[in-house]
Amino acid sequence: MTSAAKVVAVTGASSGIGEATARRLAADGHRLFLGARRTDRLDALTEEIESAGGTAAFQRLDVTDAADVRAFVSAAHERFGRLDVLVNNAGVMPLSPLAALRVEEWDRMIDVNVRGVLYGIAAALPVMRAQGGGHVVNVASVGAYQVSPTAAVYCATKFAVRAISEGLRQESDGDVRVTLVSPGVTGSELADGIADPVAKEAMVAYRAVAMPAAAVADALAYAVSQPSGVDVNEIVVRPAASVA
Ligand code: NDP
Repeated sequence: MTSAAKVVAVTGASSGIGEATARRLAADGHRLFLGARRTDRLDALTEEIESAGGTAAFQRLDVTDAADVRAFVSAAHERFGRLDVLVNNAGVMPLSPLAALRVEEWDRMIDVNVRGVLYGIAAALPVMRAQGGGHVVNVASVGAYQVSPTAAVYCATKFAVRAISEGLRQESDGDVRVTLVSPGVTGSELADGIADPVAKEAMVAYRAVAMPAAAVADALAYAVSQPSGVDVNEIVVRPAASVA
């Protein structure tokens, strides 16, 4: 346990980057509160962390439901007495060309990737302000900086997360730190949700150079480990071999 042990809530902790982040931050001595819909995965991860001497708990979470997100943050606060860091990591990426008109998938990306982040901020800000400070870490993407075919809506959601993060930073008066972590292609289950055949095919070569989720977790842990007067605002981390 480090002397700077924090209480950290992570959304989307059941796989990929969220899971790796939970593991890494728990190994650093922080206390983890994990959320996602697949509670069997969260149960196994919590047990793994606790068996390794760490501290973790979990609660089922659907980030598209504002009341659920509020309950998640309250539960973290009740369990550990404070909430130092919220990692808004949950995300979906059902890519497709706009002309495929997969409107339901557009809605889902907006609901999870944008509304989910806003609901997290709405739930956590009052808690952080009341305790005198905190840290919001939003996981965006290199798609927050550039657009590519089949990714218009996904990139739009990630541009939005970047804008929201910068706005929150400017309004925070120094009491709430804000970090945007933008990964390039990373090994996870994210691309499994692509149903459109054109986008699916395009992903095969693109994802061949994926870096491990632990690489993103390490970058995120760097921001979390800074002293209270230091705010790491943006981190972009790509596989060295990635062009996009
Ligand atoms: P995964 O698909 O492995 O993980 C996504 C996580 O989000 C899962 O834990 C999933 O949990 C959770 N999630 C999805 N929908 C919801 C929901 N409605 N409520 C709560 N949790 C939800 O992908 P990654 O680890 O790659 O994705 C993590 C973040 O990283 C995302 O924001 C993604 O956009 C971003 N990212 C990923 C990149 C990559 O190449 N992998 C590159 C750039 C950014 P469950 O299904 O159990 O609810």
